[in-house]
Amino acid sequence: MKIVDGLTLVASLQFGLGGPLDCHVYALRGENGLVLVDAGAGHPVEPLLENVKKEIPGETVAALLLTHGHLDHCGGASQIREACGCKVVAPAICQQVLESADEAAIGLVRAREQGIYPADYKLRPCPVDQCVSDGETFTVAGIQFTALHVRGHSPDSFCYYTQMHSEKWLFAGDVVFYGGVLGVINADGSGMEGYRKDLPKLRELGIDGLFPGHGIFTLRGGQRHIDCAIRRLEEGFLGRQIGQGDVLF
Ligand SMILES: [Zn+2]
Repeated sequence: MKIVDGLTLVASLQFGLGGPLDCHVYALRGENGLVLVDAGAGHPVEPLLENVKKEIPGETVAALLLTHGHLDHCGGASQIREACGCKVVAPAICQQVLESADEAAIGLVRAREQGIYPADYKLRPCPVDQCVSDGETFTVAGIQFTALHVRGHSPDSFCYYTQMHSEKWLFAGDVVFYGGVLGVINADGSGMEGYRKDLPKLRELGIDGLFPGHGIFTLRGGQRHIDCAIRRLEEGFLGRQIGQGDVLF
């Protein structure tokens, strides 16, 4: 699904694209190929790969950029790397877990027990070709990104900032969503402390396009949604959080 020139949504459980467990997977067109932001769950991976081929013909995936080590975001990484020959770029803090396919560390053991993931779902180990850390600016496929480590949803959560068509875009993973909703979940490593410490890093970035890992995205006024969440925290309140309704988002 084309969002705007150079940006396509190639998987999303909410929009019914890709596999049924996939987060939003965005494909950005750079000078030297495509950059996928997140990998989806890879259960299965073929619908995502077919969407890339069909929606962005003639382009190859040069890099896969991961926001954090949750299954719906990174589970398909090894299969995409194999199928596309792309490099995997991930937060350094995720490297060991991804390369060893540590299912307990990634929350999969518990998530399988909760019925979120099927009993036959297994995480495949995925080599990380390039590690990034907080504040680092790096270029993949000709697109420059800045990595921002924002804990709260998970200890390894990163957002990626880039400029495209003179607009400022933030790929927010599960850190902050449309409406200033935060990604706090009832899982080890998730909590408000990380948000209190790190969410202010997203202040005054002048974000136009806010592209989270789930739910609504926007091309305009993205900073308003981020600022709304920061303001609530500063006022001493919890703010809105995911999972408050019967249906996620
Ligand atoms: Zn997550």
